[in-house]
Amino acid sequence: MPLTELTLTGFKSFAEKTKIKFGDGITGIVGPNGSGKSNITEAIRWVMGESSAKSLRGSNMKDVIFAGSQYRTPMNHAEVELVFENKNRALNFDADRVTVARRILRSGDSEYLINNQTVRLKDVHALFMDSGISQDSLAIISQGKVDEILNSRPENRRAIFEEAAGVLRFKEQKQAATNQ
Ligand code: ATP
Ligand code: MG
Repeated sequence: MPLTELTLTGFKSFAEKTKIKFGDGITGIVGPNGSGKSNITEAIRWVMGESSAKSLRGSNMKDVIFAGSQYRTPMNHAEVELVFENKNRALNFDADRVTVARRILRSGDSEYLINNQTVRLKDVHALFMDSGISQDSLAIISQGKVDEILNSRPENRRAIFEEAAGVLRFKEQKQAATNQ
């Protein structure tokens, strides 16, 4: 289920539409301090459903929208799109190519899209569940995250292993059945 493309428009420092294509194997992103490396990993977590502005180093979700610079006026919206190859159906969606997008406007309106259809956040979570790459999984480790994992409580650490082992989906189904 490789991530093949990432497109950012108006997200943090990426005012201009920017497309990053990922090849096979490992991709390294290098650049001087403040050039936007962390913004790229934050964009990936954001489109996968990150709901904490703080964990995106902002105080409000609208802070992800390009705020303007010396040379450019602020933007009115931010959009990020991920493209996955899904031939092995590792993502919970029946298509060989899956795009996931999120948009936010300055008015606060926001939406998620899977293969260009508007969906709920719940659907985005369901798409990634047990794929091993959900937004809070160990697939994306931000600065400071290692300390957080080492210092976390045993229950939370157990949840990390359950996610990696792919049992979370069954636990949620069991919970839903028990609640009925
Ligand atoms: P380091 O090597 O120090 O970790 P980095 O490459 O990870 O740096 P980032 O933290 O991704 O850099 O980028 C920070 C830059 O993004 C800063 O210049 C900041 O002003 C800019 N930035 C963050 N949010 C916005 C926004 N909403 N609008 C415009 N620029 C933004
Ligand atoms: Mg950084």
